[in-house]
Amino acid sequence: MTSELTPNHAAEPVKSSKPAKAQALTAVKGMNDLLPPASAQWEWLEDKVRGLMARHAYRNLRTPIVEPTALFVRGLGEVTDIVEKEMYSFEDRLNGEQLTLRPEATAGVVRAVVEHNMLYDGGKRLYYMGPMFRHERPQRGRYRQFHQIGAEALGFPGAEVDAELILLAATLWQELGLQDVRLELNSLGQPNERAAHRTALIAHLEAHADVLDEEAKRRLHSNPLRILDTKNPAMQAVVEAAPKLIDFLGEASLAHFNAVKAILDASGVAYRINPRLVRGMDYYNLTVFEFVTDRLGSQGTICGGGRYDYLIEQVGGKPAPAVGWALGVERVLELLKEQGTLPEAVGPDVYAIVPDASALPVVFKTIQTLRAQGMSVQMHAGAGEGMGSMKSQFKKADGSGAQFALIFGGDELARGEVTLKSLRDGAGAQEAVPLVDVTTRVADKLAQSLAQNQTTV
Ligand code: ATP
Ligand code: MG
Repeated sequence: MTSELTPNHAAEPVKSSKPAKAQALTAVKGMNDLLPPASAQWEWLEDKVRGLMARHAYRNLRTPIVEPTALFVRGLGEVTDIVEKEMYSFEDRLNGEQLTLRPEATAGVVRAVVEHNMLYDGGKRLYYMGPMFRHERPQRGRYRQFHQIGAEALGFPGAEVDAELILLAATLWQELGLQDVRLELNSLGQPNERAAHRTALIAHLEAHADVLDEEAKRRLHSNPLRILDTKNPAMQAVVEAAPKLIDFLGEASLAHFNAVKAILDASGVAYRINPRLVRGMDYYNLTVFEFVTDRLGSQGTICGGGRYDYLIEQVGGKPAPAVGWALGVERVLELLKEQGTLPEAVGPDVYAIVPDASALPVVFKTIQTLRAQGMSVQMHAGAGEGMGSMKSQFKKADGSGAQFALIFGGDELARGEVTLKSLRDGAGAQEAVPLVDVTTRVADKLAQSLAQNQTTV
């Protein structure tokens, strides 16, 4: 580390004979390090998602974090918050290409699906997890690097897939133990229906031009639908009275919407029709939805999605329908924390105490068999000369959160035994266990303590 830094130091102006202490570098504002033990909660959530996706036959797709800027401009729409002001874009110094750190993943998924001709033999159900980047004002639940998990079904036109995806998300909330999340649903219809509504909407807004704020005036002709999303209290009355898109939907669009609702009703998933739900990206049509909570202030949307039947064509593919959603990992975890139900990280099953380094060959052999059986084992490692005192080793064992300590003392080993000591039952019960039986004995004890904990919780 030091030697790597030396050349840079040499290049800095030397102000005194004493070398100046290098200023500590910190993470970029709004981009967070994720440290243990909190990282275990992310892994827990990701494991739940992987299991759920597998059970719904959604398969994992991984696309690059950097994409051509044009993909987002074309895909998301030029007059969207993301493209107008939130993208981290830069020029590739080597070839001058315009690139962007992905602000969302749907456009990249679509690009990949088109590029690899993935729809040649029918629809595909995919999911992804990963970091996204948006230049926003950092606050609770809003970061510049944040993480999304998303599911996309491409190549399927039917309402049953919209419903499948909504139910998939609802099941995830259940399995995570999320409470107080409500589903908001709307239909944006088809482009021609939106166009008719848009004309009526612009006429209505123009008739009330005196109450429109600057942003609304600017968007009046470019993206009037987004004005309905305004948080400006002064505009609420005008927005409430605006013509509703749902009244402009034709028969086929209404049938699609009703089919989605019918499946949700039959599945017992509650929802609220929100005629003002339009979503931030231009690419949606027909079904749009959000899962919202009141417990995270204005960052209350934990998941959003909808149908985007025209995006594939817009990105240069053969026309094909698609639908998907993305959830914000930070917000979901924040909500679980707020509820008090975010699982605490657990320590290892076993901490191996090694009074003398001469025992290490036996220690390694033993703990490898425990690990092979699926148990987690933390081996004591010396911090200075030798392995450290028994006292300091027990202190480390306690601090690790382990259930049990295995003590590889010289006398016991000479008898072909180790000492198994409980670190969690208060009494610190201990017993000598023959080395050959250690794996089964520890597994039994762990099963016992798991059963006990289950009855007490
Ligand atoms: P918002 O209205 O809160 O800005 P959005 O409509 O921009 O959300 P989407 O683009 O639909 O959000 O992204 C899907 C989900 O990703 C959101 O519902 C949210 O949970 C999460 N998300 C979006 N932006 C951020 C961010 N800057 N930091 C953390 N999570 C975010
Ligand atoms: Mg946003």
